Amino acid sequence: MIIARTRKDLNKTLQFFSQEPGKLALIPTMGNLHDGHLSLIKLAKLNAKKTITTIFVNPLQFGKNEDYYKYPRTEETDIQKLTKEKCDILFIPKNKNEVFPEYEKLKQIEAGKLGNELCGKIRPGHFNGVLTVVNKIFEIIRPDIAIFGAKDYQQQILIKHMAKNLHPYLSLLKAPIIRSKNGVALSSRNNYLSKTEITLASNLFKCLENSVKSYKKNVLLHEIIDNAKKFLIAKNLDPDYFELRDSKLNIIKDSSFNGKKIFLSSVKINNTRLIDNIEF
Ligand code: AMP
Repeated sequence: MIIARTRKDLNKTLQFFSQEPGKLALIPTMGNLHDGHLSLIKLAKLNAKKTITTIFVNPLQFGKNEDYYKYPRTEETDIQKLTKEKCDILFIPKNKNEVFPEYEKLKQIEAGKLGNELCGKIRPGHFNGVLTVVNKIFEIIRPDIAIFGAKDYQQQILIKHMAKNLHPYLSLLKAPIIRSKNGVALSSRNNYLSKTEITLASNLFKCLENSVKSYKKNVLLHEIIDNAKKFLIAKNLDPDYFELRDSKLNIIKDSSFNGKKIFLSSVKINNTRLIDNIEF
């Protein structure tokens, strides 16, 4: 695997790879790689000749009181894992100026109305930061394919909207959520949790599954959502939101909706926020 830490090195590497025919797939990450991330690389390898992973903890997407400084950075083990997966290129910028040369003057992309709902409501400006960095990475790398996880469902929908306008020739793929045995969606932030908290966290997926069952049994939607929130609170999971939306994240108001839909939730365990969802 070739590791580039500067734009200059990255450009040289990309030029070298562009001499060979075949598609290039990009997997943007913030590092601290787990099996969820690695599943994206496996999917990339099935769909493209070459794969490039980026590891960049993007300051723009963290709020003032969020965990930017304590976010787990595990460069050495990440490199080992990517090498094992036979990723071709890793771009791990040595500082933020390698991504945003004029960081102070940066004009961010606006995520719009959906960017202020669900996770955007509790993390103001978060999705502007996400879209700004993803757009920049698309511009720098110009991949044929980019892969995002369904775990960050709202993120991948907003990226789809952004890419439709700004990167119309790029194909986006959505990878399924990888979970641990007890159902907890893998996440770098699970590292913040104690064993007891991880056990509590497994109730989020249980709650999503039970809500799907209730929907299929025609239980009224507002009852399902009330019960879900009560259940989460009883398990010491403080819900930021628990909602049913359609696959484009439009609001669904009643239980008669027949199309593809998704329960989405964000909960806090002490100071750690976890998100999860289930499509059906
Ligand atoms: P992150 O490093 O958290 O920014 O995540 C990088 C990419 O990995 C995003 O597209 C995430 O949606 C995806 N991802 C994170 N966790 C999982 C998971 N448990 N299953 C599948 N994809 C995931």
